[in-house]
Amino acid sequence: MPAMPLELVHDADLTLRNTLALPARTRLLATLHSTADALALAADPALSAERRFILGGGSNLVLCGDFDGLMLAPSIRGRRLAGEDAEAWFVHAGAGENWHDFVQWTLAQGWAGLENLSLIPGTVGAAPIQNIGAYGLEVAERLAEVEAIDLARGETRRFPVADCRFGYRDSVFKQEGWHLDGRFLITGVTFRLPRKWAPLTRYADVERELAACGTATPNARDVANAIVAIRQRKLPDPAQVPNAGSFFQNPVIDAVQAASLQALYPSIPLYPQADGRAKLAAGWLIEQAGWKGRNLGPVGMYEQQALVLVNRGHARGADVLALARAVQADVLTRFGVTLQPEPIYLGMA
Ligand code: NAP
Repeated sequence: MPAMPLELVHDADLTLRNTLALPARTRLLATLHSTADALALAADPALSAERRFILGGGSNLVLCGDFDGLMLAPSIRGRRLAGEDAEAWFVHAGAGENWHDFVQWTLAQGWAGLENLSLIPGTVGAAPIQNIGAYGLEVAERLAEVEAIDLARGETRRFPVADCRFGYRDSVFKQEGWHLDGRFLITGVTFRLPRKWAPLTRYADVERELAACGTATPNARDVANAIVAIRQRKLPDPAQVPNAGSFFQNPVIDAVQAASLQALYPSIPLYPQADGRAKLAAGWLIEQAGWKGRNLGPVGMYEQQALVLVNRGHARGADVLALARAVQADVLTRFGVTLQPEPIYLGMA
């Protein structure tokens, strides 16, 4: 069968392709339906010379202006059992699969293990980049291999889990800046879902939700349902209230600073880390700094969860930046802690 031409659009509107609904355009947008599409793109001298950015679900992105280059939208679909052994199932999914739908599908097949990551927005291909995590589980713990196309060399490259250099919301893809320059296009991910399963319910919200449902010995579906219910209560649906999920990373501070903050603010939530440092809840800091439910122009910090920055209507990238800076400044003044934004700022002059 002859290869299909690449699906390429000039001067494409991105408003519906970012969950903050910020208006912006890209000079070129290529939708990639297969690894063959990605290899064809790498082999095209004009296209491969373009400045690139890889657009997943647009849920971790602040578009600060138009993009003068080529945006790649991986739309590679497919999910299947790729193998199994005595300990685990190995499940493969295309990078363009919706993350939450994929998690629910694995549960429907009877393969537990990803339920704590239910309802995280975005795509399968984006999941390893920031090592998505929630309620005591990181995707790194369930990952076997990431497959990608090296767009500079036009070759397939496999990253076994050990090569992904995973950390807290971090991976080799971020550490090397590939998530910004689009060097590697993730085409698919293989997960390792252990047959031996136990629920992860140590987060207070999860425990409370399961107790409220009267579920003493939850199965994976019960845990998924509990997490969906919690997230639906706390987080706005981007289709109704545009947002990019948690806007700031949870800061990790040294033990000395943690002790002095605890002395000043006895109720501050502090989570000790294996290396002696302590993790703080960014949402708590923002709330204490008076930003929960407060607006600045057409944007604000969400009333149910202070960590979520929302577009109240017709906001532009500059409005988001102004609010993020104001929140950062107030948290720094009050607590001496610098909040780092989680989303990528793109198209900043
Ligand atoms: P939350 O449950 O209110 O927790 C706030 C902070 O406290 C987070 O830093 C969380 O750590 C920490 N924490 C709470 N209970 C803990 C425990 N038992 N042990 C260790 N640390 C604990 O957080 P939220 O804002 O409503 O978000 C719920 C979950 O979704 C969190 O796990 C959050 O990280 C996750 N989330 C992930 C993403 C992403 O992957 N990009 C985006 C949004 C939310 P952790 O952050 O280590 O869990």
